[in-house]
Amino acid sequence: MTDDAGVDGDAETDADDERGGDPEVPADPEHESEIPEDHPRYESLLTRHRIERGVDIGITSKQGLIAEGRGEAFDYLLGEETLPSADAAARAAAAHLLLAEHPVLSVNGNVAALVPGEIVDLAEASGADIEVNLFNRTDERMAAIADHLREHGASEVKGLAADGRIPGLSHERAKVDVDGIGDADVVVVPLEDGDRAEALGAMGKTEIVIDLNPMSRSAQVAAVPIVDNIIRAVPNITRHAAELADASDEELREIVENFDREAALDEAERAIREGDLD
Ligand code: ATP
Repeated sequence: MTDDAGVDGDAETDADDERGGDPEVPADPEHESEIPEDHPRYESLLTRHRIERGVDIGITSKQGLIAEGRGEAFDYLLGEETLPSADAAARAAAAHLLLAEHPVLSVNGNVAALVPGEIVDLAEASGADIEVNLFNRTDERMAAIADHLREHGASEVKGLAADGRIPGLSHERAKVDVDGIGDADVVVVPLEDGDRAEALGAMGKTEIVIDLNPMSRSAQVAAVPIVDNIIRAVPNITRHAAELADASDEELREIVENFDREAALDEAERAIREGDLD
């Protein structure tokens, strides 16, 4: 892939590149079911398909394509696998969500494109609200994302009232719902911009960040940094939440206290730095 091919390049050439010339993968699949599940690059092809569709239907910004490209590079070095430390982080995240008074899952254009149904499943398993929260906020994208989430089963989507503000951020980037993120004690912020992650932390909220870059400011400020692809991380938190559904508060607190965020960040950074390109 050239630098700009994923953003605005020729569709046929892009598709040829990502398929590695595999004749079994259609050049421009209309539906993700056309991507063979046994393809060695299945997850990557699925991710690209979803993000491209996200841009086509107006829920993902072109900037989101670039963010995805950055994430893919880290995932490649991680071997596109969930590290044991990322799994431990997902379990700690589930425990935090189950202990929370008011957990909220923050959804941006990339999250909505990549894991809409999976976010709805996690909200159900953890009792969390879903709130749309955009860096480049427009009314059209807000509405399109809310509709997309409803089509995937969300009963209530917050973020459209925008009657609250995160202190310390400029007007548009600061908007939240008073009865959503404004009131939350635990917030899941996947693929979040570092500034906003810092500002939410300063409000005293417990932040669970999903980000493939362990050195990003968002991951660095999170109480629970999950260094994993969101495509794997969200279903993994849901699985842990389901497993822990009957756990006592004491057991959940123990999981939270035993999670070592520094060790998780160090293990991820080491895995990426030592990642081999074969
Ligand atoms: P910082 O937190 O340092 O300010 P940033 O704002 O520069 O980071 P962006 O360019 O907005 O970060 O990119 C968003 C982040 O999301 C990147 O760190 C990227 O690695 C990560 N990312 C992209 N796609 C995925 C994905 N599918 N799963 C998990 N993380 C991803």
